[in-house]
Amino acid sequence: MARLCFDYGHGGTDPGAVYIGRKEANDVLSLGRSVAEILRRHGVVVDETRTSNTTESLNARSNFENRGAYDYFISFHRNAVQPEQAAGVETYTCINPGVKSKELAAKLQSALVGVGFKDRGVKTANFYVLRKTKAPAVLIEIGFIDNSLDNALFDSKRAEIVQAIAGAILSQLRLASAKDSLKEALDVLARNGILKSPDYWLEHARTGQNANGEYAGTLIERMAEYISSR
Ligand SMILES: [Zn+2]
Repeated sequence: MARLCFDYGHGGTDPGAVYIGRKEANDVLSLGRSVAEILRRHGVVVDETRTSNTTESLNARSNFENRGAYDYFISFHRNAVQPEQAAGVETYTCINPGVKSKELAAKLQSALVGVGFKDRGVKTANFYVLRKTKAPAVLIEIGFIDNSLDNALFDSKRAEIVQAIAGAILSQLRLASAKDSLKEALDVLARNGILKSPDYWLEHARTGQNANGEYAGTLIERMAEYISSR
């Protein structure tokens, strides 16, 4: 069963970014908890670094994650710079991300852009919670809290935003588990000398990709040979 660690930024004595009575800490708690609810209905375990308006240090958040064994760590934030100066979504991974966090970041970013946010891209940053967590980690900045249009989008399309984030995560969990089972099958073939480059097949033998026909032919011949020789 997939296990996720959700981290809602700020809280308690730290409201995060604030703009005209609105607090980042509240926005991300409420939105993130709705995403968690949907995922739980799909059988995903979601643990949260906070579930109400409490103060949690960055260290407490990474310690919480380090105590569990999670498939992904996802931190929810909203951006701010100067009133009404910037808009859009950004998704972050650590400076040297693995394949899984890069894939999840790309999916989250495009899902949120699909809802109507301006695309500011997937980025890397040396954020504490990305650096100190064990699981593949991403941090999403869901629009600018100091931009009235982003806030209008955040409020009017709330249900779509929640669905978009949940959908991106579910799609990544399925992709990763399909890859894991393909990897196991390729390891069996490699161990028995039927193929020599499991990494090639892991990359190409999946939905949306293409494998070289000549390589596929060789693979089929070797498998037939192996079965006949038993
Ligand atoms: Zn924040």
